[in-house]
Amino acid sequence: MRTDTLEAARAMDAADPLSAMRQSFLFPPHPSGNPPVYLCGNSLGLQPKGVRQRVNDELDHWAKHGVEGHFEGDNPWFSYHEPLSAPMAHVVGAQPHEVVVMNALTVNLHLMMVSFYRPTPKRHKILIEASAFPSDLYAVASQARMHGYDPKEAVVEMHPREGEETIRTEDIEALLERDGEQFALVMFGGVNYYTGQAFEMERITAAGHKAGAMVGFDLAHAAGNLHLKLHDWGVDFGVWCSYKYLNSGPGGVAGCFVHDRHGMNPDLVRMAGWWGNDPTTRFEMPREFVPQRGAGGWQLSNAPVLPMASLSASLELFTQATMPALRERSERMTAYLVALIDGMGADRFRLITPRDPSQRGCQVSIQTLVDGRALFEALGQQGVTCDFRRPDVIRVAPVPLYNSFEDIWRFAQILREAVG
Ligand SMILES: *Cc1c(COP(=O)(O)O)cnc(C)c1O
Repeated sequence: MRTDTLEAARAMDAADPLSAMRQSFLFPPHPSGNPPVYLCGNSLGLQPKGVRQRVNDELDHWAKHGVEGHFEGDNPWFSYHEPLSAPMAHVVGAQPHEVVVMNALTVNLHLMMVSFYRPTPKRHKILIEASAFPSDLYAVASQARMHGYDPKEAVVEMHPREGEETIRTEDIEALLERDGEQFALVMFGGVNYYTGQAFEMERITAAGHKAGAMVGFDLAHAAGNLHLKLHDWGVDFGVWCSYKYLNSGPGGVAGCFVHDRHGMNPDLVRMAGWWGNDPTTRFEMPREFVPQRGAGGWQLSNAPVLPMASLSASLELFTQATMPALRERSERMTAYLVALIDGMGADRFRLITPRDPSQRGCQVSIQTLVDGRALFEALGQQGVTCDFRRPDVIRVAPVPLYNSFEDIWRFAQILREAVG
């Protein structure tokens, strides 16, 4: 049976119970009146319909209780962040006390490096993937500088082999085998934002630990996308934002994972603030900081309730759908997308994302061998929302929580027409 027809795409949607989750999201209408084809969840996830009510509930709570809102009601602000840990822990494969929702992503990355990048003259280097997200590069370079090291020497970028787009895990292992004693920290993205490569975090963690380094991941493009098992993999720390695949809205509050073996150690060096203090004495304002056990012990400030209200509406959908089921659907979706693109001929497009579904998440990065910018604009005029990265890459991310096989078919159809 042909799968490249609208009927086939609709049949795949009809056969999958997760397709119903789409009803829980708001899709921005397109001015042309064409059905919106939103494939940009890797940049900003769509708004769950439940968000508005959750945020309104907190506005009402504030209006009704004022300062007493910290302790009144079913969900008092004093502990508002606490019920977010368990659903977030499901998303990243952790125990609830290993996860805390706080701050923003780059802030959390710095806080984690304060604790887990403890360089010595002999062992002070940081290993990061080449073409990492700029914020990550700035963060690691500034941490190296803060400790008195020259980032040009201290920050080592792992490159793909000549002529290849993505990094081989065996090359990371070989580098750490050879020069491992120089590295204090291995800090990779979980999924590279540009190529869409999903790194083999379990193997990278094992290799980093074997070399004696700490291992952390920036999971901005992995949380809510891959089936993560941070606890079982033994990752030291993880950080991620919630506005991409986790749909919490622009600038939403971020996540942070600290492995149990560190979280239970109150002596670990950290930046301290009152919200990280043991909650049983937090409001007694003790002079001595007593860190809460678990990732919560890295909190600094009281919780931003409104963005957390928004996040809670989205996390509820992840709890319903579950990560293993979403991941399974995602692999089918990207396989479908790749098959449709391949059907258009190898002379027009080249994938820089790995072809093996286990080595990618939902994002597929398409290198256009035609005028990429013009093509991207033509897609936009027909109702496709995706993004463009210079010089010639279009990133599309069918999100298993709200995209459909029909969306993928429509995207391919519009792409085919646009290249003529
Ligand atoms: C999206 C993204 C960021 C953005 O950082 P913020 O602190 O949320 O502004 C940083 N790093 C990576 C890898 C990202 O994908």
